[in-house]
Amino acid sequence: MEFSLQAELVLSKAPKGIKLDDFVKSLGDILKKGAPDGKGAEIKDWKVSGDRIKLTITSGTYVRPHDAVFRIKNHLSRELGREHKLGVREVKGKRYEIKFGLEHKPKGEIKVPFAKSIGIKGKDCTIILENLDEEFLQKNYVDRIVNLVREKVEQQHYEGKQEHWELIWQSKELKHAWKEDPSRAMEDRDWIKHRGRGQWIFGPQAASIMRAMEQIVVDELLKPLKFDEMIVPKAVTWDVWQRSGHAKSLYPEIYYICPPETRDPEFWEDVIDLYKITGEVQTKLIKEKIKEPIGGVCYAQCPPFWPYLQGKTVSDDSLPVKVFDRSGTSMRYESGGIHGIERVDEFHRIELIWVGYPDEVKKIHIEIVERYKKIFNDIMEFEWRMAWVTPWFMAQEGMVGVAEEKEVGTIDFEAYLPYKGSRKDSEWLEFQNASNNGDKYPKGFSVKGQKGELRSGCTGIGLERWLAVFIAQKGIEPDNWPKQFKKRLGKLPEGIGFL
Ligand code: ATP
Ligand code: ZN
Ligand code: MG
Repeated sequence: MEFSLQAELVLSKAPKGIKLDDFVKSLGDILKKGAPDGKGAEIKDWKVSGDRIKLTITSGTYVRPHDAVFRIKNHLSRELGREHKLGVREVKGKRYEIKFGLEHKPKGEIKVPFAKSIGIKGKDCTIILENLDEEFLQKNYVDRIVNLVREKVEQQHYEGKQEHWELIWQSKELKHAWKEDPSRAMEDRDWIKHRGRGQWIFGPQAASIMRAMEQIVVDELLKPLKFDEMIVPKAVTWDVWQRSGHAKSLYPEIYYICPPETRDPEFWEDVIDLYKITGEVQTKLIKEKIKEPIGGVCYAQCPPFWPYLQGKTVSDDSLPVKVFDRSGTSMRYESGGIHGIERVDEFHRIELIWVGYPDEVKKIHIEIVERYKKIFNDIMEFEWRMAWVTPWFMAQEGMVGVAEEKEVGTIDFEAYLPYKGSRKDSEWLEFQNASNNGDKYPKGFSVKGQKGELRSGCTGIGLERWLAVFIAQKGIEPDNWPKQFKKRLGKLPEGIGFL
């Protein structure tokens, strides 16, 4: 990497009678400190112009100019401050040129904020930045811009590619009741009713099936493995997603939450009056009267759980922590092709979270998978499979190992939907997942154990997805449903009749 920064130090007054050459000499090894021998930053040229010192600072990877310039500032303040009553008011970056090599040749244009230009020749990249303020230089924006360019180039290479998918377990092939679309079948019978974008009302029959499924999870998984229930917020504020990492990417899928500008009824009078006269909700006007979003509706339940542990050292007596939440819906702004209850914008999920030392966390993940096997094979009698999925970029970095060694990553649980086509060619439905999240959450929320670092895992049980799989494979006739499930379900409610 090569860096070249044209910087200006704005002084409190013109530095009369000061020999700049002597000052630069007096810097000695300050710009080499922390770098290997012979490396570090260098001042290429310097001059005084009015109340400013103009410098060009260059470096390789070590002691980058945006760091070096503050070493110079501090030294200058120390050396000249006392003697000449001179202070440095401000540091400015007039022009910053950064050259570095890329892993791959970009496939298209790369744009990032702040960059005046990004020039690319083969795998060589040159970024030009102009008119940078002190905050920009001090807060290391430069390194983040370089990383963002690298990330975007890599993204161009894996765009469209599926995550790395590796089958790790598969159930027996079963004979299924029918090949109907479960959502249509339930809609026809008024078990469920569509309500606008990706939202459904579950009638008494569908609700009782989902509650029976939930009870199975309680009896067969949560109680035996001693998970305790918690209730976590469903309005998630930015600070939570900043710590969980979701703030890096979640924006296209968020349902945003905006409080009113004020709760003063007078402020809302026109909205109220216009509605009373026209019968139309004044959405444009409302948009002008609400604050910026404070966050969004729960996307996954683990992020809003973590502030409970934030900044704490968890007592060894309480480890491993095993908790779950089922206290409300999650919402995601899903892409166009939302279909039936398989992909909805508002969904019901039980999420389990466990936290402990690395071995414990791995062991719990394995125990949970064993419990799931029992539930899906013996009670639900699903035809299903498990796959280890790794995001494409991780797969590229060689982070795909054999099943037993897997430290961080996700198992997707997928079920065959007969109405979608053959087992081989159709897309199976992910109805839940189980993840080893490594140190991501304990790090992000600054959580420690008495004996050292903690790890965590989570598993999300999507009740709409379970219901879809169940009706798709078992049909709508309770007489044909698996015995063990029927025993737990009891009698299906009659539902509400319509004329
Ligand atoms: P998909 O690939 O189907 O979009 P995902 O990878 O986004 O799923 P996760 O973020 O892993 O899903 O969420 C965990 C679980 O939450 C899923 O296995 C599923 O049970 C449930 N879930 C996620 N999104 C939806 C949705 N839009 N509708 C219903 N359930 C969902
Ligand atoms: Zn989670
Ligand atoms: Mg998704």
